[in-house]
Order: sequence, then C-alpha cells, then structure tokens
Amino acid sequence: MNKKDYYEVLGVSKNATDDEIKSAFRKLAKKYHPDINKDPDAPAKFKEAQEAYAVLSDKDKRSQYDQFGHAAFDNNGGTGGFGGFDFSGFDFDIDLDDILGNMFGGRGGRGRNKARRGSDLLQKINLTFEEAVFGCEKDIKVMSNVKCSSCDGEGGFDKETCSKCHGSGTITQEQHTLFGSFMSKTTCPNCSGTGKTFKRVCSKCHGDGVVRESKTITVKIPSGIDNDMRLRVPGKGEAGVNGGDSGDLYLEFSVKEHDYFKREGDDIFLEVPITLTQAVLGGKVDIKTLSSIVTLSIPAGTNTLDKQRIKGRGIKNSSTGNTGDMYIIFKVIIPNKLTKEQKKLFESLDDTDLTTSEIDKFNRFVNK
Ligand SMILES: [Zn+2]
Ligand SMILES: [Zn+2]
Repeated sequence: MNKKDYYEVLGVSKNATDDEIKSAFRKLAKKYHPDINKDPDAPAKFKEAQEAYAVLSDKDKRSQYDQFGHAAFDNNGGTGGFGGFDFSGFDFDIDLDDILGNMFGGRGGRGRNKARRGSDLLQKINLTFEEAVFGCEKDIKVMSNVKCSSCDGEGGFDKETCSKCHGSGTITQEQHTLFGSFMSKTTCPNCSGTGKTFKRVCSKCHGDGVVRESKTITVKIPSGIDNDMRLRVPGKGEAGVNGGDSGDLYLEFSVKEHDYFKREGDDIFLEVPITLTQAVLGGKVDIKTLSSIVTLSIPAGTNTLDKQRIKGRGIKNSSTGNTGDMYIIFKVIIPNKLTKEQKKLFESLDDTDLTTSEIDKFNRFVNK
C-alpha cells in the first residue's frame, strides 16, 4: 500500500511547528471539505489530510511516525508489530469546528449525528413596477431538499445487519509492509460504517433519505422594494439535518421599468410633455401620481427640464417608514411640421422682440 508521506500531504517540512501543521491542515480542510468541494476526489483528499493531521498534531504519534513511517500505525492483529492505534475513523480526536471555526453556521454538539442547520437558499424574483412600489403577496416556488416521505428519511426498508462487516461498521484488511504483515481497520464500504444495510433501498430517494422537491410558499413583499434589494424569509431554506434548524430563504429582486414613472430611492420622477403655447402662456395639465390623477398649473414661461415637486407623493417605503416625493419634469414639445399659415405666424412672431435677457447675453459673448 503506497501511502503518501504525511508531511507531503500537508505540504510542510519535517521540522514544522505545531502551528504550521495546524494552519496547513486548516487550509486543506477548508479546500477539500465535502460540504464545500463537490469534486469527486475531494472526500479522499480531505480524509488524507485529516489522517496526516491526526498523526502530526499528536506529539507521541508524530515521533513514532518519524521513526517508523506508516508502519507505526498499522494494527498488528496479533502478527507482531507496533500496534496500538485504531485509525478506522480518523475524526476521533479532531474537532473540526475548533479548527475550521464556525464556517458552516450554527452547528451544535459534536459527533457524527450532530444537528446541522439547513443551507440558505437564494431565489431571484421579478416584480412589476407597481408590485415593487406598493408591495404584494407572491407565491414563490422553491426547490429544496426535504425528508423523503416514502421511507421517512431512512433511505430504505427492512434493515438488516451488514453482511460484509457483520454489523461492526469496520472491516479488517491485511497489509504487507517492510515490517511484516499487519491487519488494519477501515470503514466498511458496504454500509458506510453504520453496520446496517437495507433489504430494499428506497426507490424514491435512492437511499439518500432526502428528495429534491419544489414547495410553494406565500411571501408578503413590503412596499418600496428596489432592484438588487434582498429580503430574508427566516426558516424557509433547506431543511436541517438531525433536528437542526432550517436555513433561511433570501429573495433578490429585479424590478421591471415603468414606461413613464422613473424612480430614485423613494422619489418618483415623471416627465410631462407640454405644448409650445402652454410653455409660453402657461396653462393646466392633468398628470398621474402613484395614487390618483392631479391637475397641475403650468406657469407662463416654463422651459424643458423645469421641475415641480409634489410633496409626499413618492413611494411609501414600509421597511424604512419613509415617504418620498414626486417630481414633475416638463418637456416642451417643439412642433416639427407646420402648415404655411403656422409658419407665417412664427415668422411674424420673430419680427417682434421676444428675445430674453439670456439670449442677449449670449449674443454679446459671440460678438465680442
Ligand atoms: Zn458494513
Ligand atoms: Zn426514501
């Protein structure tokens, strides 16, 4: 059996300090942890690093390994050798939570069956302008892992003792090394160490105990949602494992643009087209706010881009308690097709002195 050198596995020198060993393992564990790395080789790499760390982080085991190499830890099984350590499940003295920190969220307890919180889910939601402004209720379809109803999360039916390991969960293999033949224990591949197999594997979940299902939940979306905002819906993420809490569902919004209303924060902008005559002489125009139709007065001499503010007619944002304003931006529409008669009227207008002080000022700049 060609096992890789433990120092090589961790990428440290033979003289590495305990801290160097711990930090090298932490890096590898984060890289290859099966919860993070979905590469098919990751579990093996993770296990390899775990094994190397279990030995090199322990003063006695490290010194034995330095003297005898891997043979130091092969079980003797009565055939003579160094014996002493059972490495069947290499997580016995490594507290991953301690080493990796709380990288997986609120895990509680220790050991194989510890409760684990379900993953958070992220769902993108498209909203119309009105849905975002006024808030709405949405039925949202979420794909997530749920406990298999067919086998009640067991993975199969009619449990029986594993025929390969006879219920112990480990199997003993003979290994031939320089120091002779030794027996070593490994986790039983037939039952994954549980000691039990099913007569009939559940056909619905294929033995996983969980199935991927879509569930529909109704979410109340508050008024004032804008693009790229996120809303947390607590407890609506993936189901937890071994009694752990469910994760959260996050909704990320994309809001469709409105043909007329533009939005900046909680303020609403509306461009209002007016005629040349309305712009020059003033007048009245009907406009729409978010809630009603309002008649506005156009002051005489209104220009394109002149603004009017209607206070408190913007968005009522229920998450901030803020209410925005509405801004009217006038746009004077210049006629581009004139009858002969209209053209004459404009020409006679031009003969009169309509020049504003602004144009006078500009002419002085040009003729200087
Ligand atoms: Zn077994
Ligand atoms: Zn099932």
